[in-house]
Amino acid sequence: MERVMKQAAKVKDPSPHWVFTFGAGRAEGDAAQRDLLGGKGAYLAEMSRLGLPVPPGLTISSEVCAAYYRSGKKLPEALMPMVSEALNVVGKVAGARFGDVDNPLLVSVRSGSRASMPGMMDTVLNLGLNDETVEGLARRSSDRRFAYDTYRRFIQMYGDVVLGIDHYLFEEALENYKSLKGFELDSELGPEHWAELVARFKSIVEQELGQPFPQDLQRQLWGAIAAVFGSWHNARAIAYRRLHDIPDDWGTAVTVQAMVFGNMGGRSATGVVFTRNPSTGANELYGEFLVNAQGEDVVSGLRTPQPLTEAARKVTGDRRPSLEGLMPEAFADLKAACAKLEAHFRDIQDIEFTVEEGRLWMLQSRSGKRSMQAALKIAIDMAGEGLITEQEAVLGIDAAQLDQLLHPTLDPDSPKLVIGKGLPASPGAASGKLVFDADEAVHLKAQGHTLILARVETSPEDVQGMHAAAGIITTRGGMTSHAAVVARGMGRPCVVGAASVQIDLERETLSSGNETLAKGDVVTIDGSTGQIIKGRVPTREPALSSDFLTLMGWADRHRRMKVRANADTPADARQSLAFGADGIGLCRTEHMFFEEGRIVPMREMILADDTDGRRAALAKLLPMQRKDFVALFEIMAGSPVTIRLLDPPLHEFLPHGEAAIGEVAAAMGVSPQRLKRRVAGLSEFNPMLGHRGSRLLVSFPEIAEMQARAIFEAAIEAGRKLKTSVEPEIMVPLVTAKAELDLVKERIDGVARAVEKEQGVKLTYSVGTMVELPRACINAGEIGKSADFFSFGTNDLTQTTFGLSRDDAGRFLGEYTEKGIIQHDPFVTLDPAVGELMWIAVERGRRSHPDLKIGICGEHGGDPETIRFCEDIRLDYVSCSPYRVPVARLAAAQAALSPMVKPR
Ligand code: PEP
Ligand code: MG
Repeated sequence: MERVMKQAAKVKDPSPHWVFTFGAGRAEGDAAQRDLLGGKGAYLAEMSRLGLPVPPGLTISSEVCAAYYRSGKKLPEALMPMVSEALNVVGKVAGARFGDVDNPLLVSVRSGSRASMPGMMDTVLNLGLNDETVEGLARRSSDRRFAYDTYRRFIQMYGDVVLGIDHYLFEEALENYKSLKGFELDSELGPEHWAELVARFKSIVEQELGQPFPQDLQRQLWGAIAAVFGSWHNARAIAYRRLHDIPDDWGTAVTVQAMVFGNMGGRSATGVVFTRNPSTGANELYGEFLVNAQGEDVVSGLRTPQPLTEAARKVTGDRRPSLEGLMPEAFADLKAACAKLEAHFRDIQDIEFTVEEGRLWMLQSRSGKRSMQAALKIAIDMAGEGLITEQEAVLGIDAAQLDQLLHPTLDPDSPKLVIGKGLPASPGAASGKLVFDADEAVHLKAQGHTLILARVETSPEDVQGMHAAAGIITTRGGMTSHAAVVARGMGRPCVVGAASVQIDLERETLSSGNETLAKGDVVTIDGSTGQIIKGRVPTREPALSSDFLTLMGWADRHRRMKVRANADTPADARQSLAFGADGIGLCRTEHMFFEEGRIVPMREMILADDTDGRRAALAKLLPMQRKDFVALFEIMAGSPVTIRLLDPPLHEFLPHGEAAIGEVAAAMGVSPQRLKRRVAGLSEFNPMLGHRGSRLLVSFPEIAEMQARAIFEAAIEAGRKLKTSVEPEIMVPLVTAKAELDLVKERIDGVARAVEKEQGVKLTYSVGTMVELPRACINAGEIGKSADFFSFGTNDLTQTTFGLSRDDAGRFLGEYTEKGIIQHDPFVTLDPAVGELMWIAVERGRRSHPDLKIGICGEHGGDPETIRFCEDIRLDYVSCSPYRVPVARLAAAQAALSPMVKPR
């Protein structure tokens, strides 16, 4: 065999090199060549090099896939002689010959892409059979039953995959035949029955196609290779690539491999095994197998597979024997092969194997997909076993998936009737009774109901109701809309922009297609996928395991950037600390006025028509603000806290409806009519681009003064209690120029001097600015001279760079990603153009102010890809909603450990 494979290496080295052989302890490629050979081909080559029992074969490189599509779905002429030559070599190693009537070589033709796409593309097994070679196979195996069973399997699979005949027709013919003959099980059929079935299957092909089943083996082979390349573009594969960000131009490789037969009788079997339990991570072989079967029998689910090990058999109480009990030698070989593969690839492996008459063959190995819980356990165990380093353990976890551990998830085994879909705005799953009014939600919650609040969109008036609800649905708005940001901050599951669903607020119904749900009907939402589901779906609760805490500890050891939280309330602050935040990077003070009793004075302040009126309202707000800040400072116990001065798009706070207007009018001592006129006078065409942020503070500096006073007085009070110095960071929103910041800063400094004097203390504080407008990025050199720190507000920076309203984008952005105009929702993953503006701001800011502290506090601050970018441009910290802090800690560590390299 060794000699034959050496010959393989000598096969005329064609240019280009499209065909790579493997088998008998040798291979032309290796595991590093995934791009060219696909995962399957590359791992088969590597397994062969490792001396594992791999049936010989050849892999046609993914370059041919590109050539196939370039030439209008034609296989290149030059490929045929290369494959034929390689197939001769494969046949010699296997001890058979393709097309030999006495000793035919049968092959499988399988796909293999660079990234694993399980079950998405096509496979043909048992290729190489026709009316003549089937007799040869019968003679070779001295088993006619096996030979004809294999032939009918081939006709069915080839008919389905290559000739496009519905496999149901074959299955139906088999079932009809069995009932005609009075058989129940396939195993009751003898050779003459299978031969008869072969004839029936062939006539199905002839009926459907108007031509006989191809007897020419070369034609069969080329047909199958072309079909597998063709399956790269089937609907399933395309959808899978979209979902997993796999580029269309990668293409698939095709592996043609000598068949081994798990269906050669009672000493043969086929199965799959994971080297560890992919669900729990336990270090035990986990898998199943079927006696006298081929791979598709395991996948089809028609027969129930048996447990692999004795231990698993005892746990499940299965009466049938395990592979360990039934074929102890093959099992021992499999166990050894698993150990060898795991040690070699240093990762859990998912393996396909076949036992042919007692002898083990390895058909495939790949990195095993695992639950998040298992991923953590495996990474920590493997580091403990010395198989991988602590750094590799940190790098091996998918940070984006870590989120799964922090929120309840839907039970994957329960049935679901999905009635609509929106954007997955805040992860986690929740079921509850539908309610359409925020106040009613508060009321019903108090009576003990669990609720899902459904709104067209939300505003600050809804915040109490959002808090009372277990989950939130909106039909408008994008990933940074009010509902999305608030829900994420609260850790409530939320689906926004569900445009396929209609909400009728008058009738209090939610409808989609034929389904209409009314108030009180139970609905489930999955904020991690955006699904809206009719009825209740059981959920699984999260638990922060010791594995989670260990891995987080390791991540913290390796990250450079700090991770802060966007937290507006004491509850948020506590949650942030529990999730390991290093401080608060953004306290949106306007969110502090969502609480009961505060919205009215807030509105009084906004609606006051003179300075005195505003000062009177501010005087009511001052003690509330101070109390909030004292609580925050105390909870954070000396960790940094960045408080942003008021930045409401005014429209979010204006009262709507008679009742709300009446309430504010009464508080202000004016008539409702007068207040209505004032509301109308303040309404803006583009509130997001209107009188907000520093512009509001420039017009009404008394707001900045009140807030600065509340912050300073709170810092002194909390500092006394904590017996430490509390050094607040005050942040000015939405500036475009140094002069805006200077104006506000002057007021803040003035208040600081006054408070110092009043209380006889020295204050330590810093004043910085949000950088969230393109003009601020360009002017960062100048602005940086006046700022102690910058914090990128990438929500507004994205909105203004694109000229795209963050509240409306959700309605049409989906089309942009679908049509490939943009790769990702720019409100979730940082757009490169926005990134370039940030880079400019960092460069210019640090040039004029070398030790300028810089962070990010837009929603992107919790996105792993964005965090990698933040590491690359050397930000000092990222800040994100509390529930994303663990994700950010891990992503920051990964970025520091392997800049510019994606984790596996
Ligand atoms: C931002 O714009 O990114 C930001 C953090 O501020 P807000 O979302 O409050 O506008
Ligand atoms: Mg902003």
